[in-house]
Amino acid sequence: MMLEKLREEVCAMNLELPANRLVAWTSGNVSGRDPETNLVVIKPSGVKFQDLTPDKMVVVDIHSKVVEGSYKPSSDTASHCYIYRFRPDAFGITHTHSRYATAFAALGRSIPCVLTAMGDEFGGDIPCGGFALIGGEQIGQVVVSTLATSKSPAVLLQNHGVFTIGKDPEEAVKAAVMTEDNAAIIWHALQLGTPIPISEENIARLHHRYTHEYGQ
Ligand SMILES: [Zn+2]
Repeated sequence: MMLEKLREEVCAMNLELPANRLVAWTSGNVSGRDPETNLVVIKPSGVKFQDLTPDKMVVVDIHSKVVEGSYKPSSDTASHCYIYRFRPDAFGITHTHSRYATAFAALGRSIPCVLTAMGDEFGGDIPCGGFALIGGEQIGQVVVSTLATSKSPAVLLQNHGVFTIGKDPEEAVKAAVMTEDNAAIIWHALQLGTPIPISEENIARLHHRYTHEYGQ
């Protein structure tokens, strides 16, 4: 029963990627992990977003073995599962090649925390990890090791794109949307000159207020 709900949620969150213009054609994916069984629901490989339905989502175990579904899982599945194994706090993961953020990744550059919205959401820079090949767990390893020294729920992968984690799939998608929004503004700022850094102390204050007091 829980798993049916997660299939619907993961499908709906995958559809948020084209809706927020974070992906082109079939690139990008969202997964979710069921806290009870540790099973992972993920987008099928190479299926167009408009053709996605909850029953086409693929269910795999935490070691990326297919448990349910007639489609092949996303080619990033082994990396999603690696992240879930090493981040017990993650129950949702999003991956995109969103434009502005991936432009920073092409340079192997972190996105600097020069906006209060970034301090709120990310608690500092969005770090950029090293190069990793697609298909196995290598990307997952870079994501986990890069996030280990950061408050940010988002990480850039050099020459590749964005990975985000969240307490559920929606939170991971939100982090991907905010990553791209901040990357776009900061890209534009960099065309005008040198953005002004925010002090560590003020970043910590922004992040604390946002994570402890903001919202209903
Ligand atoms: Zn990718």
